[in-house]
Amino acid sequence: MLEKVLIANRGEIALRVLRACKELGIKTVAVYSTADRELMHLSLADETVCIGPAPGAQSYLHIPSIIAAAEVTGATAIHPGYGFLAENPDFAEQVENSGFAFVGPSADVIRLMGDKVSAKAAMIAAGVPVVPGSDGPLPENDKEALAIAREVGYPVIIKASGGGGGRGMRVVHKEEDLLRAAALTRNEAAQAFGNPVVYLEKYLGNPRHVEIQVLADGQGNAIHLGDRDCSLQRRHQKVIEEAPAPYIDEEARQRVYARCVKACIDIGYRGAGTFEFLYEDGNFYFIEMNTRVQVEHPITEMITGVDIVKEMLSIAAGNKLSIKQEDVVLRGHSIECRICAEDPDNFMPSPGLVKHFHAPGGNGVRVDSHLYSGYVVPPNYDSLIGKIITWGATREESMARMRNALDEIIIDGIKSNVALHRDLINDKGFCKGGVNIHYLEKKLGM
Ligand code: ADP
Repeated sequence: MLEKVLIANRGEIALRVLRACKELGIKTVAVYSTADRELMHLSLADETVCIGPAPGAQSYLHIPSIIAAAEVTGATAIHPGYGFLAENPDFAEQVENSGFAFVGPSADVIRLMGDKVSAKAAMIAAGVPVVPGSDGPLPENDKEALAIAREVGYPVIIKASGGGGGRGMRVVHKEEDLLRAAALTRNEAAQAFGNPVVYLEKYLGNPRHVEIQVLADGQGNAIHLGDRDCSLQRRHQKVIEEAPAPYIDEEARQRVYARCVKACIDIGYRGAGTFEFLYEDGNFYFIEMNTRVQVEHPITEMITGVDIVKEMLSIAAGNKLSIKQEDVVLRGHSIECRICAEDPDNFMPSPGLVKHFHAPGGNGVRVDSHLYSGYVVPPNYDSLIGKIITWGATREESMARMRNALDEIIIDGIKSNVALHRDLINDKGFCKGGVNIHYLEKKLGM
């Protein structure tokens, strides 16, 4: 097993990784910015290192500071969590070149999957179904671009190959708008991502977001841990997730599971990863792969009993997967509500002093949060302050438990989206299940 892991993150995921390390007897190094001296996991870590001032660019995103912290503490591995440097291939490369294990895939694989055009090409090669489109960069030649769009059929969506976080995309409904939209997206992509390459896809009207969790050891073994439905989104940000995804065609599901596992082996994948799909009319269409642990990983842990973070650490230590596909049994249903420090009326961040925090509990309730009474949520980072995860033998039972948990939770002092969750968990459409990615924004009148 790894000896000492530096956790290159903050908040709930830093605490989550620290817990897994402690269970495995791995020593921990917590790094923090000057805005984060009060983070819960600092008092639980073996060592702590301040890596810089509040702005992310000078601390959690500053590669030399993190590598230096690993060097002075004698860490043997670095876990990046999610966000920040988790999908930065240069970081993974520098971590390994400095002699540390990176808890994640190789830099080459992160690079391959981080570029959406190359990721899509790799998926096509592995037989993973993708959204029909340009299957490569959209040609700069006007005639060729128009011909591709005509063949795919309008509406189409133009996406930046280097894009992420829901940025760098433009929907085009009519042929006369195509060239202008392509030029605009290219310009924006060059500015925002330093890469002007765009590609084109069929724009699906009412898809659901369904994703598949995988684990691979980079030694020829890969498994899937089932799927999750993350269709309840606002501005491409997931709000509630559930596992398994309800009302999925079973044959299509098993076929796509097998393809994802094969793709992991084909590309030499190592660690935990997620294949994201749009799902419409019984078909899966790959959109991107996340080469890291995801915020919503606990719902998969609840229905499989597999500890994804512990498995990541074991794989990074050079071990083979500890579980075989036939050992993975999906049991019951799990839901996650993302709790954010934000104003329920305008969704603006609401940092500040948490005067009082009470976490819900009971059978089948898990709370992953770094919050405590007296904690001050700093204004500098993402507004996620915790996650409530429930499990039940049926979808109805997990929903009932979530309803209770949302009634019990108390967060005083700052504003939060708990009220929105209370509303959603009783929403007719959501209770029925299988809503599409536009459902929440329509409900909110956006
Ligand atoms: P990002 O990396 O920026 O999150 P994605 O490729 O994952 O970009 O797409 C983000 C979201 O954009 C999807 O979850 C979906 O809501 C929408 N989207 C992307 N591609 C399509 C498509 N071909 N048709 C319809 N919606 C799409």
